[in-house]
Amino acid sequence: IPLERYRNFCIVAHIDHGKSTLSDRLLEHTGTISAGDGNKQVLDKLDVERERGITVKAQTCTMIYKHKDGLDYLLHLVDTPGHVDFRAEVTRSYSSCSGALLLVDASQGVQAQTVANFYLAFAQGLSLVPVVNKIDMASADVPRVLEQLETVFELDTSTAVKVSAKTGQGVGEILPAVISNIPAPEGDPKKPLRMLLVDSWYDTFKGVVLLVRLFDGTLKQGDKVHSFATGNEYIVGEVGIQYPDGLPQKVLRAGQVGYVFFNPGMKRIQDAKLGDTFTNVGYEDIVKPLPGFEEPKPMVFVAAFPTNQDDYGRLADSIAHLVLNDRSVTLQKDYSEALGAGWRLGFLGSLHCSVFQDRLRQEHGASIIITEPAVPTKIVWSTGEEQIVTNPAEFPDPDDHRIRSATLYEPFVNATVTLPEEYVGRCIEICENARGVQKSLEFFTATQVILKYELPAASLVDDLFGKLKGATKGYATLDYEDAGWRQAQLVKLNLLVNKKAVDAVARIVHVSQVERLGRQWVTKFKEHVDRQMFEVIIQAAAGRRIVARETIKPFRKDVLAKLHASDITRRRKLLEKQKAGRKRLRAVGNVIIDQSAFQKFLSK
Ligand code: GDP
Ligand code: MG
Repeated sequence: IPLERYRNFCIVAHIDHGKSTLSDRLLEHTGTISAGDGNKQVLDKLDVERERGITVKAQTCTMIYKHKDGLDYLLHLVDTPGHVDFRAEVTRSYSSCSGALLLVDASQGVQAQTVANFYLAFAQGLSLVPVVNKIDMASADVPRVLEQLETVFELDTSTAVKVSAKTGQGVGEILPAVISNIPAPEGDPKKPLRMLLVDSWYDTFKGVVLLVRLFDGTLKQGDKVHSFATGNEYIVGEVGIQYPDGLPQKVLRAGQVGYVFFNPGMKRIQDAKLGDTFTNVGYEDIVKPLPGFEEPKPMVFVAAFPTNQDDYGRLADSIAHLVLNDRSVTLQKDYSEALGAGWRLGFLGSLHCSVFQDRLRQEHGASIIITEPAVPTKIVWSTGEEQIVTNPAEFPDPDDHRIRSATLYEPFVNATVTLPEEYVGRCIEICENARGVQKSLEFFTATQVILKYELPAASLVDDLFGKLKGATKGYATLDYEDAGWRQAQLVKLNLLVNKKAVDAVARIVHVSQVERLGRQWVTKFKEHVDRQMFEVIIQAAAGRRIVARETIKPFRKDVLAKLHASDITRRRKLLEKQKAGRKRLRAVGNVIIDQSAFQKFLSK
């Protein structure tokens, strides 16, 4: 099939608007998968993705389609993550395409991620084909959606395709529209290789596998290639296309999207730098590398500890395995006096963080304590030196005189919220309570509003989205992008047990939050700590100031006095029991606390 009959495209949509369902229909329509064989949502490969209905890693699939002109077309459908936490992955997927289906749910209309992803696709110069989905639903309002597409995106909707991905109605019109409205990729197979690394993953049998887009040249087994990013050279072991699983090919040509692995393989997945350009060995001085991508920065951090330190090794393996397939997660060893040895993990955003936690729990069933997600803090010392703190334990103590002359900054985001007009008042209140600053309020239909706010990133990990959904019967949608650092009055909040700080629980919070959070902490922690022989005082301290306090009364003396000599066997039994349970107990100062207390305290 010649280059002019290739099409590389993706689907731009808000979560739940039917991207995965439509992808399946297209794969069935082209005979890539057979209909109704239970092989649903082929592109959402990971269990968690299927379960949560979101795509985290971009997948791709090739289809061969016989057009009405009687010719075969080679179509690459590149799946993209729908969520902005994965913006870097979205941008990379878009750059391997020349067009996109802009998919909108006929009853929901344009939503926050439709807007955000539209602008990303538009900035990449993609040709867009509007597709209205779910026209089978009673609540579908196709004219309203077309009007939104025209007013919000200034799109010509005369070519819009109306479909039901569920029943298959109209789906047959999509690929003809792709062929006539999305240009073929450019590129010259006779030139030296110019190949973009779009994605990579680890396969138990093949090792590190790369998803690549060829801009020029060809690639086949035995070719020697050079990486611009690392300077490494490799020999191609196998090339192929995802159809929908790996199907080996003799050769990949300019314009195609396919996979490659090397022989010998890449040793470390870190050598696969997403956005890297490869060329033929010997041409590295002639060929110009493609523009790369920014390395994504982690914005949300948690610490994770095994409930039982005996599980450390097993859990270390699980985490290493998960990180291997998601390099946007950063990983460091961590140690807590209260919780023992563990890890500190960094994520692109709060959804990314919760998806990873779910994986850890579901795929590995690990018993694990995970601290509350937190955003980093930037400290600018009076000397002008900057420090970014991702672990509250590393935040200077209030006694450190330098911290008083330092300036503190927290990360902010620009958030876009869409919602029905009747809930505007309540949503503004929620955003203001989250220390948001309103940027704009716009009607994009008579009843739908787009609210723009500048918000502290910390409000996102405090479940701002959940609160907005709660206030709008689930109608609010949220999208955001990084807006840089803002100066803020921040303070370290410590949980103290008999004057001793529980290091793993500490958080850096805005001064306006300390009273509420401090009270919440002491009340909740008290519930989970057993009585001791002596009084236990639980306090929350903001810097040096105590903001909340609870007391756990000791056992009454007579309870102990009742243990007579005749109770010796009982006492021994008790001691043995205590020994067996000891592994799970830890001391904070002189107070013994069961690990499960931390787990309960930290779980929502
Ligand atoms: P994604 O998040 O964009 O990948 O959305 P999914 O493909 O997972 O679809 C979200 C939900 O909408 C699922 O429950 C689908 O069964 C449903 N859905 C998708 N397309 C249609 C459609 O055309 N009609 C109806 N009624 N439901 C649909
Ligand atoms: Mg999906």
